[in-house]
Amino acid sequence: MPWVKQEDCTGCGLCVEECPVGAICLQDEKAHIDMDSCIRCGHCHDICPQEAVRHDSERIPLEVEENLAYTARLMKHFETDEGKGEFLERMRRHFNKEKVVAEKTIEKIQILKGQYVQ
Ligand code: SF4
Ligand code: SF4
Repeated sequence: MPWVKQEDCTGCGLCVEECPVGAICLQDEKAHIDMDSCIRCGHCHDICPQEAVRHDSERIPLEVEENLAYTARLMKHFETDEGKGEFLERMRRHFNKEKVVAEKTIEKIQILKGQYVQ
């Protein structure tokens, strides 16, 4: 999924004009993508004169950091080492579940794709 690196966006509006499904709007002179509407065509990435529209994979380190920060924030509710350890095991299972959901979704999409692409 594309995302806009806000500090690089000059608010020129080109991507807003050219997005085929109207998924981009300007807020405070910065482009914002409505991910529920975006069809992942990549056109905004290709045309942005500032290279402000970035590929999703670039966000992986940031999202890992966000997950760790989220985990650290919740862990503050636990005072003992045992409590923290049990909580971390639950978070490990939580993120593992997310991984399994993603893997199974990818499998199904791959099968679906086979109906359209040989
Ligand atoms: S084309 Fe690039 S610089 Fe222009 S509004 Fe879109 S993201 Fe911002
Ligand atoms: S990837 Fe395509 S559909 Fe999504 S916001 Fe960019 S131009 Fe619009």
